[in-house]
Amino acid sequence: MAAAALEQAYPGIAFRWRSRNWWARLTRVPPECVHLEHDFSWMATYAPDTLYLQGAAAVQRRPARPEVSLCRTCLTGELETELARYRGRVLAFEPDGNAFSQYFFVGAPDFAAAGLRPEVAEAIVSRLQQPFGTCQGCNSEAHWLWIPRVQVESLDDLGSIATAKGQALCPAHGAQQLCEAFTAVSEANLMYVNVPYGDAGAYLWI
Ligand SMILES: [Zn+2]
Ligand SMILES: [Zn+2]
Repeated sequence: MAAAALEQAYPGIAFRWRSRNWWARLTRVPPECVHLEHDFSWMATYAPDTLYLQGAAAVQRRPARPEVSLCRTCLTGELETELARYRGRVLAFEPDGNAFSQYFFVGAPDFAAAGLRPEVAEAIVSRLQQPFGTCQGCNSEAHWLWIPRVQVESLDDLGSIATAKGQALCPAHGAQQLCEAFTAVSEANLMYVNVPYGDAGAYLWI
């Protein structure tokens, strides 16, 4: 990967020189932000434009930005901008900070391809079709429904998906809520984080 492509995709992030050299490219080690050199207690593999459907990669935006490893500050910086810009609808499930290893968005048309059980997909789609009302933070139109873990502990809990009250949020406050959830987790090694695409979908964790 040319350094120019990397800088163009992530203009605000400084990457470690060593993680961009020929050996890193050859071994497909994703470039790392400079902060991971000294502190890797919190890191995430960020592949904003790629959706992994049961192992197969489906690019959602072209050119797809390269996969990179980011510290929490760099990741939340990217996410705040990306999420605030997305105008679609999001049902976001709060992850279990002690147990999650991926946090990713799946567009509603891809629920089945991503391996969601039909009943779960149906329950989420039905929530996405209901009005969210106005943002709790600023009263503007809500595009997000943030579902705290106390309301839905796992996707097996179909009844709760249908009835969870959730928190209605605008894109900016939805972004802020997600980043706060990441910030509340003191150590993490997330293998996959992406950003929303399409018209509507869900942020899920495993
Ligand atoms: Zn960083
Ligand atoms: Zn708001």
